[in-house]
Amino acid sequence: MAAASKQEAALVHAMDKGKKRLFILLGMATVLLYGLVFGVIWFIMTSAPQALRHIVVVSLVAAFAMLMLLMILGLGGLVFSLLFGLESPFLQKLGRGIVELFYPMVVRIGQFFGISKEEIEDSYIKINNQITVASGRKYKPEEVLVLAPHCLQNTSCPYKITIDVHNCHRCGRCRIDGLLTIAEDTGVNFVVASGGTFARKFAREYHPRAIVAIACERDLTSGIKDMNHQQIPVVGVLNERPNGPCHNTSVQLCKVRQAIAYFTEE
Ligand code: SF4
Repeated sequence: MAAASKQEAALVHAMDKGKKRLFILLGMATVLLYGLVFGVIWFIMTSAPQALRHIVVVSLVAAFAMLMLLMILGLGGLVFSLLFGLESPFLQKLGRGIVELFYPMVVRIGQFFGISKEEIEDSYIKINNQITVASGRKYKPEEVLVLAPHCLQNTSCPYKITIDVHNCHRCGRCRIDGLLTIAEDTGVNFVVASGGTFARKFAREYHPRAIVAIACERDLTSGIKDMNHQQIPVVGVLNERPNGPCHNTSVQLCKVRQAIAYFTEE
């Protein structure tokens, strides 16, 4: 059993590695694009009157050099901390900043190359998880909130678990039962939200210091960005949609346990 879960964890780790690379590569393509724009402006400026040309060129060079340096430093710091698992708060802050800065451009460049937004969001979530985990910060179980989407509940279930998750009768037809067991075993708080607004409401109500969020790529990405602005670390766990989006979804319970362990186990 233990060997099987180790193999599973190794497989998940190998898959995650490839997905993280995608974000880094697209980030580098963004730097190249900025370099190209810089080259074009430089070319135009060199054909203007000399005095003006001089001022404009020097200002542009200084501005671009600063921007490029910041990007290279940020991206380098991010790659460095991802490769070597550095726990430097400065590098992590810089890494997060650069991920946020690159994100809109990365999505556009990715889509230009035919990479779906979902894949890029997936990569963003993996990078966020690694930065969060690398910080190594630990919390008391009651400070951790597990936030799950309503679509995990079996659609034929009559119980109102979004009002109180303990209304679940533990029949085992959906993952809510297993998630309740995990919450009982670990002592973390567990809620089911029927949308982003309710997720934010729960986050305000429980005042968590760390969140394990279960959702699809789109909701996880926007939730992580939201919580990043509030300085609340999030580890995202993707749900599985064997019946299509938002309908009787599922989640790998071992991944949820692992995410809770990142925040709670010394
Ligand atoms: S496990 Fe709970 S929420 Fe899921 S179907 Fe059974 S009673 Fe409903």
